[in-house]
Amino acid sequence: MPRLCSTKIVATLGPASSDPATIRKLFEAGADVFRLNFSHGSHDDHRARHAALREAEREIGHPIGILMDLQGPKLRVGTFEGGRATLATGAAFRLDLDAAPGTERRACLPHPEIFAALKDGADLLVDDGKLRLRVGRHGADFAECEVVTGGTISDRKGVNVPGVVLPISPLTEKDRRDLAFGLELGVDWVALSFVQRPEDIAEARRLVQGRAGVLAKLEKPSAIERLEEIVDLCDAAMVARGDLGVEMPPETVPGTQKRIVRLCRRAGKPVIVATQMLETMVSSPTPTRAEASDVATAVYDGADAVMLSAETASGKYPVEAVTIMEKIIESVEHDPLYRPIMDAVHAEPEHTAADAITAAARQVAHTVRASAIVTYTTSGSTTLRASRERPDVPILCLTEKLETARRLTLAWGVHPVVTEDVRSFEEMVDKACRFAKAGGLAQAGERVVITAGVPFGTPGATNVLRLAWVD
Ligand code: PGA
Ligand code: MN
Repeated sequence: MPRLCSTKIVATLGPASSDPATIRKLFEAGADVFRLNFSHGSHDDHRARHAALREAEREIGHPIGILMDLQGPKLRVGTFEGGRATLATGAAFRLDLDAAPGTERRACLPHPEIFAALKDGADLLVDDGKLRLRVGRHGADFAECEVVTGGTISDRKGVNVPGVVLPISPLTEKDRRDLAFGLELGVDWVALSFVQRPEDIAEARRLVQGRAGVLAKLEKPSAIERLEEIVDLCDAAMVARGDLGVEMPPETVPGTQKRIVRLCRRAGKPVIVATQMLETMVSSPTPTRAEASDVATAVYDGADAVMLSAETASGKYPVEAVTIMEKIIESVEHDPLYRPIMDAVHAEPEHTAADAITAAARQVAHTVRASAIVTYTTSGSTTLRASRERPDVPILCLTEKLETARRLTLAWGVHPVVTEDVRSFEEMVDKACRFAKAGGLAQAGERVVITAGVPFGTPGATNVLRLAWVD
């Protein structure tokens, strides 16, 4: 029996969850998409995870989505004498390009491009924002800073530069190697970290060449400033609250999350809400009430997916975390308030055949109390438009393309199945009813609404809506 929830779960694989038995358990607990985090692990680790996922997919007979997450231009300080130094609040601290180990007076910041782009008064945040340095006098190879918030700084800690658009590609040399490797393996989605501008997405698109969906991780204020353009260019997006909450004041993250989810829903692009969703479950078997509420909020807002990071990658309770996430989703989706809250955001259809047909399908399904909407698709685009409608019945996606089915595992309400294309109306109806019944989406005596394109076998032309009884 497949899970019948509409909101999807993305689970990150790591040392705590990469053996085939655990992967299988994560899937059975409700994970739809698995994230390979290229900030950690070797190519061999990721190759083994990918193979285990495809093997599980074969055994289960259900498409599994694989998302590769590129590290992106994560900036780091150099090393320190004795591994660490303590910076006093109010003290002076210098950053430069000298590779010599740092002290409490200076350290290496091996990124000339940062010095080139710095502005007077810009803040540098170190170690997830724990330390804050304000830039005073600066040049091509140095910056004299005032320690605004002191603390201990240690080897290779991360640095965020929120207020400055850095003249760097979101794809480092490592990212390019990882990307080629991931595309060769056959991932379904590629996530770009630290996207700053729409051009970053265009650059990634040129490299990916349609072999995977391109997902923009929104974690920089500069990306939020140009959100509309970025959402327009990408195939999906992620509210990457970890870095976003370092780069922007934490109190602005909830509002930004809502804005991103709304915008992506309007555009019909899948959107993931990520990071710290069930953080305490890294070491505890139960979440806090606040965490349960956070997951629920994303579901009420109509996000396509919610994500687990350390909870499943390195935590003590990976399967429990997915199980609880699934329970929260189920509970919200059964709440009488879910529909009115989610339907408060409902974008008008665009003036296209696909939107006209899918909007009508939602309406017809609702009016005749049909059990499911069945979409025939090649590229997946019509199914995504159906998902954008957020209908109150599940969407069965029938496609002959395995890649399409895998990619659509991320989309709200979509249950993808791979099957050969149909050649006649009779076959179209028969197959839709059979698969809806087999998948537990409709029972004998119930109705389904079918959308497809005729002539059959020509992609990109949804123009038919048909009601059928399941027998
Ligand atoms: P990360 O991205 O886990 O790769 O840093 C997500 C985030 O920043 O929230
Ligand atoms: Mn991040």
